[in-house]
Amino acid sequence: MNKYMEQTEANVLHTYNRFPLVLEKGKGVYLYDTNGKEYLDFAAGIAVFALGYGNETYNHALKDQIDQLIHTSNLYYNIPMAEASEKLVKVSGMDKVFFTNSGTEAVEGAIKVARKYAWLKDRRTDHEIIAMKHSFHGRSMGALSVTGNTHYQEPFKPLIGGIRFAEFNNLKSVEAEITNKTCAVILETVQGEGGIYPADKEFLEGVRALCDAHNMLLILDEIQCGMGRTGHMFAWQEYGVKPDVMTCAKALGCGVPVGAFVLNKKTAENSLMPGDHGTTYGGNPLVCRAVSTVLDIFEEEHVALHVQKTTPYLEKKLDEIVNEFDCVEVRRGKGFMQGLVIKGKPVGDVVNKAMENGLLVISAGTDVLRLVPPLVITETDIDNMIEKLKKCL
Ligand SMILES: *Cc1c(COP(=O)(O)O)cnc(C)c1O
Repeated sequence: MNKYMEQTEANVLHTYNRFPLVLEKGKGVYLYDTNGKEYLDFAAGIAVFALGYGNETYNHALKDQIDQLIHTSNLYYNIPMAEASEKLVKVSGMDKVFFTNSGTEAVEGAIKVARKYAWLKDRRTDHEIIAMKHSFHGRSMGALSVTGNTHYQEPFKPLIGGIRFAEFNNLKSVEAEITNKTCAVILETVQGEGGIYPADKEFLEGVRALCDAHNMLLILDEIQCGMGRTGHMFAWQEYGVKPDVMTCAKALGCGVPVGAFVLNKKTAENSLMPGDHGTTYGGNPLVCRAVSTVLDIFEEEHVALHVQKTTPYLEKKLDEIVNEFDCVEVRRGKGFMQGLVIKGKPVGDVVNKAMENGLLVISAGTDVLRLVPPLVITETDIDNMIEKLKKCL
């Protein structure tokens, strides 16, 4: 261990088994450790750094904002929030935004929206939410309660009540969990941590129809699959299935801690009112300047379209790997959110070998190698990744 690893392990609570790697700087789609070793980054800080490292427009905007104003609290208006919110409403085609500090807080907000919406209708306090097995929505108590992973949940019980779990991509199973108390269905449009499972079109359309028929809100968690990652600004836009509430984070600020829950008109007008929800930092000038700048860059540089155009090449190259290597069973995913199912050896071994070969990838679920690169990668970067991946497989 070098001194930074020792210092960290001595002082930071041990909740992560970190890779023995101290990252010092980034440039484009490459990261560099303290020994100057170069890594091709197909992890992007877990689907966060969409623009690549050292984007000048982004860096200049943040430096400028630091000199202007970093924080004010939500008791006052600020310019970046005004601009970021308008842009986010525009690209999502939704109606109102609430900025949070993280993904998990966006999910907390969405849960509160669903309960308040239902409460305003019937004044009951026993509403239920349907969530999916193998889902991931975050680590705070509400988000953990809708995360379909017993290992994450068990030691922290009791969680919030009234959560029922259904099978992802199984409409009958969702229907079976509906009661007269159900107020919402929450799901990831493409399941990330659970192992990269895109929703089937018929499933998503079916859930939307069930929500309409039973006056339940559809909450789509776009924290990982949103922000252009699937080749559309938000993954649901490809399906043509619009949520009542959407959660965002990860690439929304491309590295500054910011998330959001975004509501349609019906939900915005019939849920949280002044006094119902708040945050000291959420949507402060610094993070909103980041969001605003990210959304500008996405528009000006057609980032989602670039993903759409480059996806066939990435998928073709990954399918070649599936054909060539017995230990790679199948590819799943959409756009730049791809998973390779590894069999016959622990996926962690592949991740470690890749790191030795100068390639950063991560895992998902128990056996999936996850590729969530910066959205600005080119075919050359894909070729480099494939070469390194082949070596370690
Ligand atoms: C990462 C993630 C979250 C949690 O976001 P944090 O910022 O880590 O709290 C929630 N939902 C999904 C789908 C995610 O991928």
